[in-house]
Amino acid sequence: MKAVALFSGGLDSTLAMKLIIDQGIDVLAVNINTGFGSTKDRLDHMQNMCDQVGAELRIIDIQSEFLQEVLFDPKHGYGKNFNPCIDCHAKMFAVAKRIMQAEGASFLVSGEVLGQRPMSQNKDALQTVLNESNCDGLLLRPMSAKLLAPTIAEQNGWVDREKLEGISGRSRDRQLELAKEIGLEDFESPGGGCLLTDENFAKKMNDFIKHDKFEVKDIPLMKFGRHLRLSDGAKLVVGRNQEENGYLQNINNDKYYHLKTIGLPGPHAMLSKNASQADKELAAKIVLTYCKAKDDKTYTISFDGDEVQGSPFASREDIQPYTIM
Ligand code: SF4
Repeated sequence: MKAVALFSGGLDSTLAMKLIIDQGIDVLAVNINTGFGSTKDRLDHMQNMCDQVGAELRIIDIQSEFLQEVLFDPKHGYGKNFNPCIDCHAKMFAVAKRIMQAEGASFLVSGEVLGQRPMSQNKDALQTVLNESNCDGLLLRPMSAKLLAPTIAEQNGWVDREKLEGISGRSRDRQLELAKEIGLEDFESPGGGCLLTDENFAKKMNDFIKHDKFEVKDIPLMKFGRHLRLSDGAKLVVGRNQEENGYLQNINNDKYYHLKTIGLPGPHAMLSKNASQADKELAAKIVLTYCKAKDDKTYTISFDGDEVQGSPFASREDIQPYTIM
């Protein structure tokens, strides 16, 4: 007997899988990549969790489907920020169901805890997700199973309902107790969660879609740097530290120039290629302001080889009107 689990890398989904594996069922842990999760050290963490509970890990990339079908027109709207959680969950379950059928698995598992997130994990929201993804009856939520209607796996006796949990609410006490019981180590996820729930990220997204069509290739650029919108509408991104400079340097997006200060150490920056000459000059000025440049001197900035001359602003406060975040 085999089950497919939606696996976020977090404690709840790890424990949910363990509760099923302990009943003699093989679990395929499917992590669905929408593009907006944090990437830092994540893969190693997920592999470590799966190894500890004995699940097989598989990453499924749905970035393109997610942008086309979920992110910009969610049937059930957004949460507090740019997060279409109900539609996103339904999409993830529909994808997991496809994998379940292809793998010959018998049911689905998720780590959701009733009432943990008041908006997206209340009873109605959980049921809506099941209806939207046609997974009603197929999805077992081991962490809260005793509080929910029995699923096919329990009705058929594949899983003993008595050995599942009845957790609800935001407290993690029972989860920590279970982690201790099974000797689970290093279970705190590294990095942040989904960027779509972040207020500043939502500001960047809202600004982006006012000016451009958002594509999969734009996702990496949204994750790093200080974001600015220039006078004629061009987008400028400036690395805030060495780590961000490194990430920006490696982004390959044909809609953007890479900017380099010549003969002067400075941040890595990117500017939309449809920028007017005035916006190129403004971008040069802004980037120079973040360097140790003197405002009475002229410097050269390369835009993928094309050169623009400029001087910095007298103060970083002059940049404020262009800053999104
Ligand atoms: S937090 Fe992000 S990944 Fe999770 S359901 Fe909401 S939109 Fe999807």
